[in-house]
Amino acid sequence: MKHTLNRRELLRLLSAAGLGAAFSRRAVADEIGTAVTNAPVPESKLVPSSTRPRYPAVLSGGKVIQPERPLAVAAETDVLVVGGGPAGFAAAVAAARAGVRTTLVERYGYFGGQWTGGLVLLVISSHARENGQLVKVLRGVGDELLERLTRIDGAVVNQAPGRHNPTSDPEATKFMMDEMIREAGVKVFLHCWVADVVMEGAALRGVVFESKAGRQAILARVVVDATGDGDVFAAAGAEHEQRLHAIGLVHRLGNTDRADAAQLKEAGIRSLGALEPLPSVKWVNLRGPSTDCLDVAELTRLEMEHRRSIWKRVQQLRKTPGGEKLFLLQTAPQLGVRISRLLAGTHQLTYAEARQGRKFPDTIAVGGAQNAQHIGWPIPYGALVPRKLDNLLAAGRCICVDEKLIEDMRLIASCLTTGHAAGAAAALAVQARCRPREIEIPRLQKLLRDQGAYLG
Ligand SMILES: Cc1cc2nc3c(=O)[nH]c(=O)nc-3n(C[C@H](O)[C@H](O)[C@H](O)COP(=O)(O)OP(=O)(O)OC[C@H]3O[C@@H](n4cnc5c(N)ncnc54)[C@H](O)[C@@H]3O)c2cc1C
Repeated sequence: MKHTLNRRELLRLLSAAGLGAAFSRRAVADEIGTAVTNAPVPESKLVPSSTRPRYPAVLSGGKVIQPERPLAVAAETDVLVVGGGPAGFAAAVAAARAGVRTTLVERYGYFGGQWTGGLVLLVISSHARENGQLVKVLRGVGDELLERLTRIDGAVVNQAPGRHNPTSDPEATKFMMDEMIREAGVKVFLHCWVADVVMEGAALRGVVFESKAGRQAILARVVVDATGDGDVFAAAGAEHEQRLHAIGLVHRLGNTDRADAAQLKEAGIRSLGALEPLPSVKWVNLRGPSTDCLDVAELTRLEMEHRRSIWKRVQQLRKTPGGEKLFLLQTAPQLGVRISRLLAGTHQLTYAEARQGRKFPDTIAVGGAQNAQHIGWPIPYGALVPRKLDNLLAAGRCICVDEKLIEDMRLIASCLTTGHAAGAAAALAVQARCRPREIEIPRLQKLLRDQGAYLG
C-alpha cells in the first residue's frame, strides 16, 4: 500500500540524515515570511480517552439531559468582572487598583466590547454643560485611557481641552486596555464565555464558564456583571426587564481620503462615515431593526444580512464616480447589540431625574450630554444594585434606568464611569466584608474621587 510521509515522519528521516534542523527552520520561515532559528516543531501526543472525565449530555425519553458533574475551579478571587467592554475594563482596573484580587472573564480575545469589537469609535457624552461651561464628566479610569492614547500618534482625536466626544482607534484602544489591565494586576481569562452562575443558597458565589478546556468555575466574593446583556444577573435569577432594540453592524471604509467628495456629492452622497484618527478611514454606523438581542437565530440572520447589505453598498460606492478607490476595510467582529436586559435595581434612574440634574446622596458617577449642550446627570449607586440578589453589581449598558434614559445611559462614557464605580464598590465590599448594598457610601465616594472620578 502506498504510504505518504507526514511532516513528522519526514523530519525524523531528515534528522537521521543530519538535515532536520534546516528543514524545520525552512518550514517556519515559509509560514511567517522571515527566518526563525531554532523554531520548535509542534509535538503531537496521543490523548488517551481516560485522561479527562467526560459528562456528555444524554438523550433520554426524547429529552436531552445534562448529568450532574463536578466542575474544576479555575480561580478564586475577590472581585470577578464578567465582560471586558468599556464597563468591565474600567471595573476591573478600579477594583484591582483598590487592592483586591481581581479577575476578568471575556468571551472574545480582546477588551473594549462594542467600542473596539463593535467598531463604535466615538465616545459620546464625555462632557456636559454647566453654567455655560464645558465640563468633563468622563474622568477616572476611562479618561486616563483616552489621555494615554493622546501620547500615541494617530490613536485618538478630540481628547483635548475645549473638545468633547473623542474618537479613538480600535487597535490602539485594545492595546492600551491590555496595558492598563496588565499594570493593575488583573487576572484575565480571554476566550471564556460565562454560561451560568454558582449559587450558595440565595447568594451568588461565582460563575461557570465554557472554553476550549471545557466547563469550569470561578469563585468570587463579589461579581460585577458587565456583559452588557445582564447574562450573570439573569442566570442568578435577579429581577430584570428585557427590551428589544435596534441591532446594527458597523463597518469601516478605507481610502476615504482618496475619494472625490465633490463628485460623490453630485451623486447624492454627502458623507462617507464618521471621523477616525486615521485620515484614510471612516467608520459607518448602522441602526438596523429593533429585535430580540437574545434570540440567536435572529442574531445569526442579522449578522449575515447586514454583512451582505454592507458589501453591496460598498460595491455600489465603488461604481459611483468619485468613489472608485474606496474599499471595505472591515465589518465589525461583533454584531451591534444596543440593549437587551436591564437590571431591576434598588433605584430606577429616570429621564426626568437626569434632565433636572437631580442629585443623590449615593451619586457614584455623572452622565454627560450627547452634544455637550445640557447639564450632567448624577447616577445613583442604587442603579447598579439588584433589589434582592447579593454579591452582584451591574455596570454599563445593563444598569437600571427607565426607557427614555436608555439612549443616554448606554453611551460609552457612561459605561466607563458606571464600570469604574462598580469595580470600586465591589472592592470596598470585599474589604469591609459586607454585601455590596451595605458599603459606606461616603467611603465609596472618597475612593472614587481618589481614583480621579467626577461626582459633580
Ligand atoms: C451599532 C452601535 C452604535 C453605537 N454608537 C455609539 C456611539 O457612537 N457612541 C457611543 O458612545 N456609544 C455608542 N454605542 C453604544 C456603546 O457602544 C455601548 O453601549 C457600550 O459599548 C456598552 O458598554 P458595555 O461595557 O456596557 O457593554 P459592551 O460594549 O457590550 O461589552 C460587553 C462585553 O462583555 C462580553 N460578554 C458578553 N457576554 C459575555 C459572557 N456571557 N461571558 C463573557 N463575556 C461576555 C462581550 O464580549 C463584551 O466584550 C453604539 C452601540 C451600537 C451597538
